[in-house]
Amino acid sequence: MIYNEEFETLPREVLEALQMKRLQQVVQKVYHTVGFYKKSFDEAGVKPDDIRTLADIERLPFTTKQDLRDNYPFGLFAVPMSSVVRLHASSGMTGRSTVVGYTKRDIDTWSELMARCFVAAGLTKNDIIQNAYGYGLFTGGLGIHYGAERLGASVIPMSGGNTKRQIMLLQDFGPTAICCTPSYALHLAEQGQAMGVDMGSLKLRVGIFGAEPWTEKMRQVIEDALNVTALNIYGLSEVMGPGVSMECVEERRGMHVFEDHFIVEVIDPQTGKVLPKGEQGELVFTTITKEAFPLIRYRSRDISSLIAEPCRCGRSHIRMDRVTGRSDDMLIIRGVNVFPSQIEAVLVGIEDVEPHYRLIVDREGPLDTLEVQVEVSGSVFSDSGAVKVLQNIERRIVRDMRDYLGISVRVKLVEPKTLGRFEDKASRVLDKRQR
Ligand code: ADP
Ligand code: ZN
Repeated sequence: MIYNEEFETLPREVLEALQMKRLQQVVQKVYHTVGFYKKSFDEAGVKPDDIRTLADIERLPFTTKQDLRDNYPFGLFAVPMSSVVRLHASSGMTGRSTVVGYTKRDIDTWSELMARCFVAAGLTKNDIIQNAYGYGLFTGGLGIHYGAERLGASVIPMSGGNTKRQIMLLQDFGPTAICCTPSYALHLAEQGQAMGVDMGSLKLRVGIFGAEPWTEKMRQVIEDALNVTALNIYGLSEVMGPGVSMECVEERRGMHVFEDHFIVEVIDPQTGKVLPKGEQGELVFTTITKEAFPLIRYRSRDISSLIAEPCRCGRSHIRMDRVTGRSDDMLIIRGVNVFPSQIEAVLVGIEDVEPHYRLIVDREGPLDTLEVQVEVSGSVFSDSGAVKVLQNIERRIVRDMRDYLGISVRVKLVEPKTLGRFEDKASRVLDKRQR
């Protein structure tokens, strides 16, 4: 089944003509309403009228996460605040998080695209969907929620965490689908088993998993443990939120990018050159229908490739392969994005903590763990109440990481000059996770 038969199966030439028209419109719009774009287009020597074919998109400059931070919070909005009906933000008060805005029509589009995702997964209005993505500033919870309502399904707004309750509702409400991160799905399966629940005999038949990278092997394990068909969904708040692309249940190979709303390119992250279809590189997105927060050639930093072959399901939209990594040092810890620089910013705000740290990322069962090893100043150790002081520092780090970045960490305080000295932030990170 296809939710929007007309737009999801447009013949390639028609689709590209539509993209062209919409691209021209958005380029005109941002050039004349957003100071940042006027400046960046002028610097690149390109005028909106220069965009005459789809290939001309390559003449437009990229937009980066740094540009979003520099224009924090609303500098890139293309409509007055009176037209903005929703704001979302990524984690990190200290790292100047990315803030995104939506008009009523943007929310409408997002809801439709999420409804398309559910239908691509084989769901209908007769399904009950347990939504275990976090509600709040993150786009995950509400994005899924609105899409499920648009479809007409029954949505359980469970949000993340609270595993015992999740399992209880899985038994009592009998949802037929669940949405969460793949690692949380595994955690649910394990906890359920530990509670003596036969997780294979629930009513669940479909799982829609995203927000972090996963593998075919993980798909197999989840499908066996929960007795579901597991599907991959991709999105990022800057571009919209969940529902930028979605696997179809027919093929389950690559996620269809909703090309009537987004133009996707793959570039070489070093040179910025556009790569031919099929080659691995960094995904770049241009939104062509968004009103409040249009984005031109946004560098996602996600590494993937495009699959141009037609798909069995009948959708004409191009597919993107699984995201295999990032071209920057962003970490995804239990679905929450954090940069080492944000962690550092929190640490430097704490008294008696030195700016020398190491981050050890690992997995305990299916769940990510993050240990922060950090040096404390020498004076602490000579203090007579050292043990108490150290405990307080530890508690403070745990609390601030949770409050500012939304992540839970383990802390290991070490004596001065015991950690290696690193040139760049990335080498302070040891990621031991095997996916
Ligand atoms: P979300 O709530 O979907 O995580 P964010 O904007 O916080 O939205 O995070 C977006 C990032 O999450 C993406 O740039 C990508 O790195 C990662 N991500 C989202 N979906 C997937 C997926 N299906 N596979 C791999 N990574 C994903
Ligand atoms: Zn398909």
